[in-house]
Amino acid sequence: MSNNLLTVAYIAASALFILSLGGLSNQESARKGNLYGILGMLIAFVATATVLPHGITEYATLSTVILPGVVIGAIVASRVAMTSMPELVAILHSFVGAAAVLVGVANYLEPNSSLTGVEATIHQLEIFIGVFIGAVTFTGSIIAFGKLRAIISSKSLMLPARHWLNLGMILASVWLGFQFMGTGSLSGLPALLIMCAIASLLGIHLVLAIGGADMPVVISMLNSYSGWAAAAAGFMLSNDLLIITGALVGSSGAILSYIMCKAMNRSFISVIAGGFGAGAGSGSAAPIEGEATATTVDEAAEMLKDAKSVIIVPGYGMAVAQAQHAVSDITRTLRDRGTQVRFGIHPVAGRLPGHMNVLLAEADVPYDIVLEMDEINEDFAKTDAVLVIGANDTVNPSAIEDPNSAIAGMPVLEVWNSTNVIVLKRSMASGYAGVENPLFYKSNTKMLFGDAKKNVDALLGKLSYA
Ligand code: NDP
Repeated sequence: MSNNLLTVAYIAASALFILSLGGLSNQESARKGNLYGILGMLIAFVATATVLPHGITEYATLSTVILPGVVIGAIVASRVAMTSMPELVAILHSFVGAAAVLVGVANYLEPNSSLTGVEATIHQLEIFIGVFIGAVTFTGSIIAFGKLRAIISSKSLMLPARHWLNLGMILASVWLGFQFMGTGSLSGLPALLIMCAIASLLGIHLVLAIGGADMPVVISMLNSYSGWAAAAAGFMLSNDLLIITGALVGSSGAILSYIMCKAMNRSFISVIAGGFGAGAGSGSAAPIEGEATATTVDEAAEMLKDAKSVIIVPGYGMAVAQAQHAVSDITRTLRDRGTQVRFGIHPVAGRLPGHMNVLLAEADVPYDIVLEMDEINEDFAKTDAVLVIGANDTVNPSAIEDPNSAIAGMPVLEVWNSTNVIVLKRSMASGYAGVENPLFYKSNTKMLFGDAKKNVDALLGKLSYA
């Protein structure tokens, strides 16, 4: 492929990636956005592959890694359950980090001899920074994967003087950077590898220190890191498209992290410095008084029949129960009866940004009745019944009422302001943040215990034959 054609292909792919991001920002255009992304990646892949030096060895070697990669990727992606998607995303971020480290080390071991003077120095700097970001992303993403999969506790690890520890690791890396720069003929390799080990520890410590409800920010932050790691690899390989793509992922991930912090009333710096989720409040949480009241499917169905307005608040439990289609059916049935039905979506409901929106879209719930927290929070007071389906932390009043709660200050859906609240969950267990929920003990709350799908189906049965 000629250089001109390659440039055109790269520009087209970059434009498609930008269109893809634009499309993904809205539920209605998300499918189109995905298609743009796939097309862009296809163009990028074909253009990059055809630009290889033509020799059968390169293609033969490449295909021995690309083909198994393609097959494994396709199998994993087609089998993954929606509830495991966050873990998949976390582990995929770790691959980007590992790739950046490997590209960096390989680049150092086999330098581009045409670079001299300032260019060579800049290239060395690219390698050092690329390996640093890659190592932090690699280990941080693995820890995030472990936390999301519950292999590692979601609680934050609070080592004494942890901020000093982080600062120490960063300063040691900077010092090693000075040792590394300007060294010739591989003598900087020890400095590079020691920095890589320190950055790996930093990644582990940074993510272990973030706990409870702050995990969503970590996911989007690691997404951003993986973008910068890819951009760094792009600089090392002098690949413009990789630089552009990495910068797009890096900046959109950073913007998403900022938006999530704002939505959760958290300071971005406090979250990434770690330990915030361990207790926004400094003392111990207030004890909960009262008793929870259990209800039956019959009673809950009667409540829904009498309601003129209903708000459904889904959470992670709806994803676990795979109840989205049943929820869509009950929405249709209630609307056919003349009831106003809307959805209230918390920005961090589920385990992935937009998790609930994706599930509801999959189940064909009309977009115009799916509202964000800010759009619907004031309407709970004018609502007859709220169905909380597998949500917990995102509807926890202690975030507002108890300054000592670990989630104090996080805006939540104020469902308790409505006339009746029906909570569908299996037990009195707490949510991801591990915080007790006083909502379950309020006088207008009824607990409908059991699997969300089973109970929504049962409610649907009662409403359909009314
Ligand atoms: P939570 O994790 O707070 O609660 C989910 C609830 O669902 C649990 O209390 C559980 O209770 C219930 N549940 C589980 N399975 C079922 C089932 N089969 N049927 C019925 N209920 C079920 O969910 P939220 O969505 O309210 O909050 C999300 C939390 O996850 C927040 O703390 C957020 O910070 C965190 N998080 C979010 C991420 C994101 O990007 N969105 C990423 C990482 C973490 P029981 O066991 O009793 O059934």
